[in-house]
Amino acid sequence: MERAGCLEMIYPELEDKLVVTIMGASAQELYNLGHRDNFFYLQHAMGLASSIGLGLAMHLPAERVVVLDGDGSVLMNLGTFATLARYRPKNLIHLVFDNGSLLSTGGFNSHTTSGSTDLAAIARGAGIEHVAAVDGVVDFGEAFVAALERDDLSVIVAKVAPVGPDHYGMDLHLPENGFRFRRWILDRKRAGSARSNDA
Ligand SMILES: [Mg+2]
Repeated sequence: MERAGCLEMIYPELEDKLVVTIMGASAQELYNLGHRDNFFYLQHAMGLASSIGLGLAMHLPAERVVVLDGDGSVLMNLGTFATLARYRPKNLIHLVFDNGSLLSTGGFNSHTTSGSTDLAAIARGAGIEHVAAVDGVVDFGEAFVAALERDDLSVIVAKVAPVGPDHYGMDLHLPENGFRFRRWILDRKRAGSARSNDA
């Protein structure tokens, strides 16, 4: 399966979530589906999308946070699984698209190529209870729905093909993305529209 198809499938569900992506192909593919101000594309900080997501999830317990990560980024920040397991934010879903490749920086094989490193096993070993490893579109969709319905930290490692978008380029610079993202959060807080205020 391809990541772009997975993103297209979950895109409607991301309308009211805080979404943090890694740089490169994942960011571009989400952007291509249609930017929303609750999407933050973490440029120039490879590996740290899950760390940013953790901080947001802990600071904003009324929001749901979805992190779009990749194998190369997770491998640069493997400690993130242990930190996520320790703090276990119930409102965080960590999606890891494992294409076995450092696609956005030249297409070099990553450590997960040929199954040499199992990111789902590492996540479980770090202490994360809800970890799904999927390699088909239907399984991915079901795992994502299960994560949405579960009020607990969830990690989904999805095996995808090493293909990316046919072009790169966003009409949105990092500072503007950051300001608009922050404003979206603040507006939601003022409006009381985050989920804990719905009750
Ligand atoms: Mg990759």
